Amino acid sequence: MGNNKFKILVVEDDRSVSRMLQTVLENNGYQVLTASKCQQGILMLSSHVPDLVVLDLGLPDLDGEEFIRIVRTDSMVPIIVLSARTDEMDKVTALDLGANDYVTKPFGIEELLARVRSALRINRMNLHAAAPGSIFSLGALVINYDKRQVRVDDHVVHLTQTEYNILSFLSHHLGKVMTYSSIINTIWGGMDDGSIKKLQVNMANIRKKLGCKPGETRYIVNELGVGYRMPDQDD
Ligand code: CA
Repeated sequence: MGNNKFKILVVEDDRSVSRMLQTVLENNGYQVLTASKCQQGILMLSSHVPDLVVLDLGLPDLDGEEFIRIVRTDSMVPIIVLSARTDEMDKVTALDLGANDYVTKPFGIEELLARVRSALRINRMNLHAAAPGSIFSLGALVINYDKRQVRVDDHVVHLTQTEYNILSFLSHHLGKVMTYSSIINTIWGGMDDGSIKKLQVNMANIRKKLGCKPGETRYIVNELGVGYRMPDQDD
């Protein structure tokens, strides 16, 4: 077995799901470690240093959120959360605690593999990311952070300060779902009753100015009921 394989830690107490994930991931060239409890997962994380974690939120000892909180004190390993469809709030909490992405159970294999590839790729890109003040580009979109200037196909896009701040924030978290509250707290410093509406209005204006057609997900993906994500190009 080569040492160049990505190592993925699966933390999931449901044996059938865990076994299925192991098979699928191994068949796709990943090395897989499994843990069925939170504490065991944390130990394996420090002893095996995986490249990515797939984490079930409902674990028997501590819950998955606790896992994220503990792990994020000293590791930026990408974490993809598995959550049940009914656990919308858990998903949001997990993202706010630092999970990178989520897949809702029951999930499709292809969807999961796409999320895994994306998280691994983004992590590599972020490791080599240039210092702030550099130029960000995604397809035809270019952000010059020094000048606070946005271009699409070489044309300057005239954004308001708020619109620029939102777009810049998403670009700094490329590929990661940013929840409504994390965006709102960053941009406006706190939430109130009208915050989500205000964010949605700004987002609609940004999309229009970037030349996105309704429903198009080129630069900004609307994760319904959760938040927004700037997708990595291969998404
Ligand atoms: Ca479970």
